Amino acid sequence: MTDLTTFSPSELASLKSSLEERYREFQSRQLSLDMTRGKPCSEQLDLSLDMLNLVTADSYKTMEGVDCRNYGGIDGIPEAKALFSSVLGVATEELLVCGNSSLNVMHDMVMRGLVHGFVDSELPWGKCDKITFLCPVPGYDRHFSICEYLNIKMIAVPLNEDGPDMDLVEQYVSEDDSIKGIWCVPKYSNPTGTTYSDRVVDRLSQMKTKSADFKIFWDNAYAVHTLGESIDSLKNILDACREAGNPERAFIFASTSKITFAGAGLSLFAASTKNIDFLRKRISFQMIGPDKLNQLRHVRFLKDKNNLEKLMQAHATILKPKFDTVLSVFDKELGDKNIATWSRPKGGYFINLDVLEACASKVVAKAAEAGVKLTPAGSTFPYKNDPNDCNIRIAPSFPSSKEVALATELLAVCIQLVSVEKLSK
Ligand code: PLP
Repeated sequence: MTDLTTFSPSELASLKSSLEERYREFQSRQLSLDMTRGKPCSEQLDLSLDMLNLVTADSYKTMEGVDCRNYGGIDGIPEAKALFSSVLGVATEELLVCGNSSLNVMHDMVMRGLVHGFVDSELPWGKCDKITFLCPVPGYDRHFSICEYLNIKMIAVPLNEDGPDMDLVEQYVSEDDSIKGIWCVPKYSNPTGTTYSDRVVDRLSQMKTKSADFKIFWDNAYAVHTLGESIDSLKNILDACREAGNPERAFIFASTSKITFAGAGLSLFAASTKNIDFLRKRISFQMIGPDKLNQLRHVRFLKDKNNLEKLMQAHATILKPKFDTVLSVFDKELGDKNIATWSRPKGGYFINLDVLEACASKVVAKAAEAGVKLTPAGSTFPYKNDPNDCNIRIAPSFPSSKEVALATELLAVCIQLVSVEKLSK
């Protein structure tokens, strides 16, 4: 029996001293490892290296002969629209291919809501007394930072195994007209790896909202990012909203940041044609056209949906062993101790870890003291405030497999030490 919650004070004390010895041994190695962010490693970036040779001094025109060096083409080049509309399952008229960062597009979209409102707004959001977004938790810290930065109130909603707690979401949006949006990472979500069920997609599309211009910010950042052979299926939110009579409700975001280059990819924005026509006009005040050379490079390299999926399999071959390493260290070190639970994601970039209440900040601090940086505890919640202080996001993609093993073992020691300290009180 190794359930630590059943240990006597003397058993806890002897376990503590052996853990302290292991911890000191880690400290003496003077590690400097970083598991803070879901960054692709250089081996993954190398998979797309050939892309850099595909636009040359004598091949910079689109199939229709448009010179990609020049201004124009605000929608993105037609071949990029064709490729990514097939990947996202939307019509080319429902898609814009934009610059290198989808986060940037999300930020601008919230700003547009605040300054001008959308097709169905009576007032710009910024003229309303209060604006609120629902935030399924744990979630993506940078979504919450956009809200905090722009003074948008956030309400946390639990993320269940099939998506946000829809009873609660439906209740909130039906009663409060200050609620203008919900952040969703609907597939292999950051950090839990959750894919929303069809039922949740239907309920989000159909629910009655008190606010007429409520928007679903559908950040499909991990649309094709499987860690195995199969890929989860996700119901098409644009179709569902159209069928539900709420065609203007969903804004879809995605990017190739974790397909090709994280710092030099393409971002994608999809919505109803009415939304796209409305937004194209507004975007034209901001720029004359996106980087079409990069779009050309991407289309020539990625070719089609099948080929893109093959590239994602190559990413999975690099990533999966790192995820497996974290899981096997957790299983071995923490498996039956009743002090932590963790996700076993089938895709995406993260493993979600929950430790005993009031322990997450201490665990992260202890790991940092021994040279392993983790995402700060609380980051996965609005206002960086995890009320139970139990959630930690693990990002195994960037360090080498050896480093992942070492960092996870240290993390497991820290979790045990902090838990033993808590249980000894
Ligand atoms: N959305 C989610 C859910 C993410 O996890 C990330 C990066 O980790 C991003 C968006 C960033 O996307 P981009 O690189 O396109 O700005």
